[in-house]
Formats: sequence, structure tokens, C-alpha cells
Amino acid sequence: MKQIQFTKGCMNNCNYCYEQQKIIIYDPKIPEDKEIQILDMNFLNNPKAKEILRSLPKKKWEFICGVDFRLLNQELCNLMKKKGFIKIR
Ligand code: SF4
Repeated sequence: MKQIQFTKGCMNNCNYCYEQQKIIIYDPKIPEDKEIQILDMNFLNNPKAKEILRSLPKKKWEFICGVDFRLLNQELCNLMKKKGFIKIR
């Protein structure tokens, strides 16, 4: 299974976490694989989260970490379901 990273950084600045505060957004090439793991530490924390989700092809997507459930809403849930997300942690 291939892995991909769309963003780096998180604004939350939890005192036990090493993640940088500055958010960097990448534009990675999407692998052809049917199942892909997303490595972002806090994907929904980035200002382009919805835009990135909309641009994804339908596959079996999985977040390794990186979903702050406080930032989830019905629209994002529907979008993830439409794009084929199978694991959200
Ligand atoms: S990535 Fe998670 S643990 Fe780290 S600062 Fe952000 S919310 Fe906190």
C-alpha cells in the first residue's frame, strides 16, 4: 500500500507533539494504487482540506493519523465517504 502526504504542520501546538506549527501544503502526485494511506499529522487543520478532498480520485483512502474530530462536519464526512475513505482515526 502506498503512502502520501498532503500537508505538514499543525496550528494546535500541543506541548507533547513535535509537529511544527507552520503549515506547508504539498501537491503530491497521486499513486495509481487502489489503496493509499495519508500520513498528514492533522489533515483537517489545513485551510485547503476541503479543496484537496474534492480533488481526490475515488480510492480506498486511509488516514494513519491526522483527523481532529472537532473539525469534522457533515459536509466533510459526506466528501470522505464519496471519495472512498475506509479508515478515519
Ligand atoms: S498534530 Fe495532533 S498532537 Fe500534534 S499539535 Fe497537532 S493536534 Fe496536537
